[in-house]
Amino acid sequence: MAQHVVRTGMADFVGLGRLILSYPEVAADMLAGRPLARKRICRTFSDCTTAPRNGLVSGCYPLDDFYKQREEAALLQAAKARSKEAG
Ligand code: SF4
Repeated sequence: MAQHVVRTGMADFVGLGRLILSYPEVAADMLAGRPLARKRICRTFSDCTTAPRNGLVSGCYPLDDFYKQREEAALLQAAKARSKEAG
């Protein structure tokens, strides 16, 4: 869809949103014609936005090992549990 929009002059460029957090190399892989790493494509779990809403650094906690291993990952899970309890 983005390719069509640019090709037909409807836009000058298209930005990539939070997908970049889970898969920063996606544009390079596409431009090089490499197969996409499908398991790294954002699945809209929203931890990257829930974390900063709870005073934690943003990142893709579910799919990126760097964030999975940070101490903030446990704090994020606790914040989500508290939010679920509060209904
Ligand atoms: S945390 Fe979820 S929404 Fe955010 S980039 Fe990762 S998969 Fe996508």
